[in-house]
Amino acid sequence: MSSHSNPANPPPAARAGRRQPGAAPVPQDAALGLGRGPGLGLALVLVVLLSFSSGAVGEAQAIWPFDRIFERPPLAERAAELLAEAIRTPTSNPPGNERALARKLAAALGRAGIENGVLDTPSPDGGSPRAAVWGRIRGTADRPGLVLLSHLDTVPADASEWSVDPYAGEIWDGFVWGRGALDAKGVGVSHLMTLIEIAAEGIELERDLIFLATPEEETGGRAGAGWIVKNHPELLEGIGYLLTEGGGIQITRERDGVRPPIWGVTLTEKAPCWLELVARGRGGHSSAPTLDAAVPRLVAALDRIRRFESPIRITPEVAQMFASLAPVASEWDRAGFQDLAATLANDEGFRRRFLGNPGQNAIVRNTVSITVLEGAPKTNVAPPTARAQLDARLLPGERCSDFAETLAQLIDDPSIQISEILSFSTRASSRDTPLFRAIAEVADRQLQPGLVVPRMIGGFTDAHWFRELGIVAYGFVPRALTADEARRVHGVDERIAIDTLAESIRTTLDLVRTFDAIEAVDAAGAD
Ligand SMILES: [Zn+2]
Repeated sequence: MSSHSNPANPPPAARAGRRQPGAAPVPQDAALGLGRGPGLGLALVLVVLLSFSSGAVGEAQAIWPFDRIFERPPLAERAAELLAEAIRTPTSNPPGNERALARKLAAALGRAGIENGVLDTPSPDGGSPRAAVWGRIRGTADRPGLVLLSHLDTVPADASEWSVDPYAGEIWDGFVWGRGALDAKGVGVSHLMTLIEIAAEGIELERDLIFLATPEEETGGRAGAGWIVKNHPELLEGIGYLLTEGGGIQITRERDGVRPPIWGVTLTEKAPCWLELVARGRGGHSSAPTLDAAVPRLVAALDRIRRFESPIRITPEVAQMFASLAPVASEWDRAGFQDLAATLANDEGFRRRFLGNPGQNAIVRNTVSITVLEGAPKTNVAPPTARAQLDARLLPGERCSDFAETLAQLIDDPSIQISEILSFSTRASSRDTPLFRAIAEVADRQLQPGLVVPRMIGGFTDAHWFRELGIVAYGFVPRALTADEARRVHGVDERIAIDTLAESIRTTLDLVRTFDAIEAVDAAGAD
């Protein structure tokens, strides 16, 4: 566990298109995802085409196109290339192996003259080198700092199911394709480019702005963000706010104006309570079965668990979330969304509709999924032990040990042991903050104003490590995705439109500046 701090490099060399010593040179055609053949000439033509197809038309028209090869290329193009390069640096977890990517991102920050560092983090089981990367732009005053948090690792991809190589970082048809394009290399690139734009434009903020990308999020974050908050408190000194994944802008494909874009800001998450069940029983040859064998005992226990339904409980965050969604709900659900607890209790039809949606069902009660099963390695063996793992998700404020006790009573079999694999408690961040107001202001001045909805989500991100420290942490990436695009997260053919990527950078920049301006007004009013 060592940390390297790179001295800030002056930006002019990078702007002139030269590379800093030590930065890995990327051939122009490889950087464009065209490593399979087209020569430099075609690559240059594509640079120009890309700049026009990427929403940067205004910028592109301002300068004669060939000038851009020597000038600073358009934002969309630089962001797409950086994301493609990040995708080509595989960090599929396990094993993660995030250090190479951390170094590349640190180099990008350094080239822009931004203070940065790579932190080596623990490698569980002596595995591949893990690392986090940070960058910091110092504020002109000491308002509570803002962290833009993402993670470097990705879930694995099964290349045989994809239309493109998930690790080639292809730029094609207006999209950057590959594992991590959305979750979460696309988020990290959007954050990093926001810092680069601020540095390049010489924008002054009254607070520190910190870029942080961590390893190991996809496997729980304990050795990533969890380790960093404990071992590098200096990174979080003076920090009051954090934005990370877990929420964003949801748009409909039609863009027909019927439903406004939903700006979902996640205030809290359900808490994971991952459990292992081990059944012990008589082992031996399975030609003479016994009633006390391990596998049948385990199956009987799991049968009770699969039928188990936790009571419904509406947390204040969930009540707020559905009340905010009421204006865009279908007419027959509108009154129910307005007063969720009462309607769920009294209206049978509404209850059936509401709970029939697995996502909605999951945010009004504790849930449990049976996931891992392990019995004998062979058909004709009755094993002495059998194992199952459960993925339970608890509402905020509930404890995993209590839930395990509830299951133990339900199973009612002392030969089965229940133990915790992973659990933590969750807290909610308040919506009554200048950061939330800044999000609402930015949403309001969009061409198509967004409907801001405070949310609770069923999954979890690294945000909870920071909420535990009292930092206001929102799951919100200002990036507009349709449901079809969002479904590709952890799935096949993950990709992001270059337009969407560039727009997310501009909106993040707008948000950061609006947040600063709101607090400046607040402070003036208080004096
Ligand atoms: Zn993620």
